[in-house]
Amino acid sequence: MEVLQNVKPRVYKFGGKQAEGNSKMKNLLGGKGANLAEMSAIGIPVPPGFTITTEVCTEYNLLGKEKVVEMILHDVESSIENIETLMGTKFGDKENPLLVSVRSGARVSMPGMMDTVLNLGMNDDVVLGLVKKTNNEQFAWDSYRRFIQMYGSVVLGMKPASKEDIDPFEEIMENLKEKRKIELDTEFTIQDLKDLVFDFKVAVKKNTGHDFPTNPWEQLWGAIVAVFNSWNGNRAVYYRNMHGYPADWGTAVNVQAMVYGNMSENSGTGVCFTRDAGTGENVFNGEYLINAQGEDVVSGVRTPQQITKLGSKRWAELAKVEEEDRLENYPSLEELMPSIFKELNSYQNTLEKHYRDMQDMEFTMQDGKLWILQTRNGKRTGAAMVKIAIDLLKEGMIDEKEALLIVEPNKLDELLHPIFDLKALKKANVIAQGLPASPGAATGKIVFFADEANKYKSSILVRIETSPEDLEGMNIAKGILTARGGMTSHAAVVARGMGKCCISGAGALKINYKKRTLTVGDHEYHEGDWISLNGSTGNIIEGKVATMEPGLSGEFAELMKLSDKYSVMKVRTNADSPKDAKIARSFGAQGIGLTRTEHMFFELDRIKAMREMILSETVKGRKQALEDLLPMQREDFEGIFEAMQGFPVTIRLLDPPLHEFVPHQLATQKDLAEDMHITLQAVKSKVSELEEFNPMLGHRGCRLGNTYPEITEMQTRAIIEAALNLKEKGIICKPEIMVPLVGTVKEYEFQEEIIRTTAATIFDERNNTIEFSVGTMIEIPRAALMADKIAEKADFFSFGTNDLTQMTFGYSRDDAGKFLPIYLEKGILKVDPFEVLDQEGVGQLIILGTERGRSTKPNLKVGICGEHGGEPSSIEFCYNVGMDYVSCSPYRVPIARLVSAQATIKSIE
Ligand code: PEP
Ligand code: MG
Repeated sequence: MEVLQNVKPRVYKFGGKQAEGNSKMKNLLGGKGANLAEMSAIGIPVPPGFTITTEVCTEYNLLGKEKVVEMILHDVESSIENIETLMGTKFGDKENPLLVSVRSGARVSMPGMMDTVLNLGMNDDVVLGLVKKTNNEQFAWDSYRRFIQMYGSVVLGMKPASKEDIDPFEEIMENLKEKRKIELDTEFTIQDLKDLVFDFKVAVKKNTGHDFPTNPWEQLWGAIVAVFNSWNGNRAVYYRNMHGYPADWGTAVNVQAMVYGNMSENSGTGVCFTRDAGTGENVFNGEYLINAQGEDVVSGVRTPQQITKLGSKRWAELAKVEEEDRLENYPSLEELMPSIFKELNSYQNTLEKHYRDMQDMEFTMQDGKLWILQTRNGKRTGAAMVKIAIDLLKEGMIDEKEALLIVEPNKLDELLHPIFDLKALKKANVIAQGLPASPGAATGKIVFFADEANKYKSSILVRIETSPEDLEGMNIAKGILTARGGMTSHAAVVARGMGKCCISGAGALKINYKKRTLTVGDHEYHEGDWISLNGSTGNIIEGKVATMEPGLSGEFAELMKLSDKYSVMKVRTNADSPKDAKIARSFGAQGIGLTRTEHMFFELDRIKAMREMILSETVKGRKQALEDLLPMQREDFEGIFEAMQGFPVTIRLLDPPLHEFVPHQLATQKDLAEDMHITLQAVKSKVSELEEFNPMLGHRGCRLGNTYPEITEMQTRAIIEAALNLKEKGIICKPEIMVPLVGTVKEYEFQEEIIRTTAATIFDERNNTIEFSVGTMIEIPRAALMADKIAEKADFFSFGTNDLTQMTFGYSRDDAGKFLPIYLEKGILKVDPFEVLDQEGVGQLIILGTERGRSTKPNLKVGICGEHGGEPSSIEFCYNVGMDYVSCSPYRVPIARLVSAQATIKSIE
């Protein structure tokens, strides 16, 4: 078997300013492992450890636990020895024990989606050793109870019974708190912690039927396997599918010496960012807690404190905390531990310069010694991404090409969505304030459970705090609001990653899951009530707030200008109305690649004329109805040409099956019969006559124009006359008339003949001419195969990859929704081919069609106008094929401009 011939090492050590791996090995070591190795090698104090590669995860999935343990046993043992030497401790030792953490780490960060076990190596003997060693009984027993709790839930699978229930361990703790009349975990006495350990072990035995494992090696292998298994857990699979990450990437496992932030009042832990992940502002920021472990900061159970003095002051202002109170209860790290802050500040500078990107770091202070636990390129909002790219460029840290490559194209989408209307915002009733965890504007109805987020068309997920289980609901909701948690809480980090508006830590909210209510002061809100969130200010607003269109300005505009400097392939838009054309122009579209003329017929007054045309039994009747449609079409074209100000405009002749236009409801059929002075029966029989079994493969596209030439004639007339009218106003436009759904050369020739004859007639009538071209869509496989012959006639090609995908796969566009989700779930398909171009299959037809077309017409203009024209990986493919342009919806134009530049840069590097 291929995997058994894997000759690469399976385990990589790091620590003590040395490492076997480096940051370039992300695919093998995972992002976390690669960065730990890199940090160690550049002298950052990283607790020593080792990484088991992602390939071992794949081997594990194929071969199972026993074989994989056998393969890595020796390496893992020698790596543990290495940690023991560096830390001066021993795994499982009663006197001077080494405890380790076991964490997942895929090649890209998937925050909270996989499993982690901390404090591993603990048992009844080791805990006594730890007491002796640290002289801190409280800490030792607290670590032990945390370990059982985490191991029990992650490795042994002890979970809450239902969504309204709490975790079995939490329940034991809550009961004890009630009995002891205390509120916080930190109030437990040593005896309480010992009792908890005992009760936890009883609960494990009761739930799993086995004793809690006491052998540290057994614990270690259990945890390693649990991390591998979590790669295929529900959360991880959902997250992977959402981002299109393939299942065969696997996760690495990082085993690392534990360092403790909860050992003393001189210990602590935190998360920090070299720049603001929400806005991109160049300010060091983050949160920490004294005497705590990492999960305490992200879970939001305690209110984390700010690292810098500036951040702390800003936080106090939002949380309405007086300066005296702030200094006493929530001082910044800068104020509380100035020398540790100074050291941390110097590492953040070093790391940002080293990685030349904004870093998201985790650190722990153990008894006054600072350790950096991890660094990675920080997740950020779209706005922050753009600002950071441009700022890093201006600061000289990266060059223009790097600035373009650092921006994730799809993230720009966030900047292209509506924002709150400033006028409406002034009148808004702000009911409470939280932390502006992820910017944006969100309006929706309150839901309290993630799995109910799709209950309303627009919902706001309101939670005390979120957990990774809530991921799917968070994705569906328009915005997320939590009562607990800071800027680095799970909700905040995940929301920023999704580009979703989020407000966290809104302490004034009282949430009751059982009653499904949200109380602010004396006002109670219920499930289904409207609220609005301003993720940029943290304002929580009662009711709905109006939104307005965004625009290109500031750093976004700079980024777009830079993109255009590098891109070779042009970006056009798919637009069916003057309004869309104007929006697309404002986003920088350099022309229209597709106007679907049928969309112009759907409006009320037009559909009537259209129906009369379809229902008429004679050519004369049809022509009559077309006469009525002509001025409407002409007017639309004039508007579009005007909006495009000389940029090319491709107009496609009528495409969809006729039955889409005829009325299917009895009342409308009656109206139409009256209007046309025909019987209801006549209307009904025409409707059923037009019915098709496979309308997508039926009487549509040029098949319509060839059976009803008068439609092509009317549309050509509308286009040419519109262009002539504009010419008279001094606006030059060169329409490109496009024939849809061509499969044979003759189909094209017949249409071209009508178009050119009609145009010539109009030129005679008007005694004036304009330039225009005639081309075709390539959207039927046969057309791609016959491209050399078609190109002898056609002036241009535009790949209609929606139909081309449909016909190459043989999946009906109308019906694929029935089986595609199952195919994706089962991994039969990696991605939806209607969203992401199937480069492997459909791509071959595009390459072949382009090459054959250009073999007979070397200057043939080639573009794409299917949905894929706005999807980053497909756009890159189009560039590599040598297309002249891609065309996409107006709101995707900036994304396509950026990808076009990125594709050029990648191809020359
Ligand atoms: C296509 O098929 O890719 C296309 C752009 O046309 P439509 O989606 O209108 O069929
Ligand atoms: Mg099509």
